Amino acid sequence: ARATKVAVVTGGNKGIGLEVVRGLCRKFDGDVILTARDEAKGHAAVERLVRESEVEPLFRQLDISNHGSIHRLSNFLLDTYGGLDILVNNAGVMYPMGRGEVEALSTQVRDTMRVNFWGCLDCCKVLFPHLRPGARVVNVTSMYCRSTLRECSPPLRAQLTDPHITMAQLEKLMTDFQRCADAGTNLVNGWPTFAYGVSKIGVTAMTQIQQQEMDQSGHKDDILINACCPGWCRTDIGGHGASKSAAQGADTPVYLSLLPPGTRSPRGALLSDRTIQKW
Ligand code: NDP
Repeated sequence: ARATKVAVVTGGNKGIGLEVVRGLCRKFDGDVILTARDEAKGHAAVERLVRESEVEPLFRQLDISNHGSIHRLSNFLLDTYGGLDILVNNAGVMYPMGRGEVEALSTQVRDTMRVNFWGCLDCCKVLFPHLRPGARVVNVTSMYCRSTLRECSPPLRAQLTDPHITMAQLEKLMTDFQRCADAGTNLVNGWPTFAYGVSKIGVTAMTQIQQQEMDQSGHKDDILINACCPGWCRTDIGGHGASKSAAQGADTPVYLSLLPPGTRSPRGALLSDRTIQKW
């Protein structure tokens, strides 16, 4: 294995992920791997970065909703680098706003949760064992997690924000949301109808649990796991009218990826504009 440090960005072929790759290529002293589920789009994105910014990320295929694909990346990292130093879980999907009736709710919940929650979680489960001392993990979430949380019933809200919630309990709640959406009983069971918002509640809660698990596992390895909202950005998800460029959206994820050794805070937190947010 090479002695080089290595960073992995998911969903790196466009939008905020592409800008995170560009930023890390400039600032991180190590290899940066741009991953994309579509090989052609991934290679095109690498070529674009070479052309525009004279930076040279590497490319590996990664579909975060495909367990085999995650394992292939995992094996590559182990064989080539023997570990992982930065993981930016950026890949995400959202059904267009205001077109909620186009697909049945249960379909929207399945498609959205499969990538945003379960895909992100699976990446973490497979790749975390490779994290080296001083590693940084950034889970890209959305401030919609806060407004969507307010639409949950008080008991659900209490469970989702319980500082002692376990990953098994969170996974059970996310599965329950799917079950209720399938049965058309989400509202009577206290769940909202905004699949994306619930998926990002899951990402934010997951982050806090992951940091706790890391700390409790006896690791004294200075590993920091944080969630961040990039802000409303002009991408395919954010739309043309958004207030920030994708590059501006990449600022906080890149900042969190490069937190210096020995940083005490933020850890297991939610941030936007480099600032810790309550949710
Ligand atoms: P884009 O749609 O531009 O980019 C999303 C990226 O995720 C694409 O590269 C896409 O690949 C990839 N992706 C989707 N599904 C998968 C999958 N199963 N496996 C691997 N990659 C996948 O949107 P943004 O850049 O805006 O979104 C990036 C992140 O930022 C998301 O998590 C989003 O929720 C979050 N966010 C965005 C905000 C905004 O205003 N833009 C606000 C708050 C949060 P492909 O090209 O193949 O579809």
